[in-house]
Amino acid sequence: MIQDTGDSFTHIDIPRGSSHQPFRAELRAAIGLTGCEMSVNSLAAGNAVPFVHKHGENEEAYLILSGTGEFWLDGKIREVTQGDAIRIAPATERCIRATGPEDLVYLCVQAREGSTPNYTRTDGIITESKPAWK
Ligand code: ZN
Repeated sequence: MIQDTGDSFTHIDIPRGSSHQPFRAELRAAIGLTGCEMSVNSLAAGNAVPFVHKHGENEEAYLILSGTGEFWLDGKIREVTQGDAIRIAPATERCIRATGPEDLVYLCVQAREGSTPNYTRTDGIITESKPAWK
C-alpha cells in the first residue's frame, strides 16, 4: 500500500537508438517533485539545443544515457558519451548537441546550488519495515 505522502508514479517512453525526433519529458509536474526538476531528453543525431542558456541559482547534473555529443561550456567544447556525468554551475553558459549517428539521450537534474547538504548517506534512515520479498 502506498501511503498518501505525495508519492507519485508515471511512465515515460524513453527513446532508444535513432528516432530522429527531439524528445523532452519534464518530471517536476508529472510526478510532483518539489526539490528539483528532472528531465529526460533526446536530441536527434546532428541536432543541437536551439539556444545557449545559464541559470539564476540552479546547478544542473547531466547523465548521458546513450549516444555521443558535445557540451559547449562558456565557449569550451567537452565531448560526452554514454555514462558520462557532468555538473554545471548556474552561471556557466551551456549548449548541447548530438554528434554521433545515434540520438543523444540524457537525464538532466536541476536543483538550487547548495540546497542538498544531506543526501542518500546522510539523509537516508534505515527502518524496520520489510517488503514481502525480504
Ligand atoms: Zn538548464
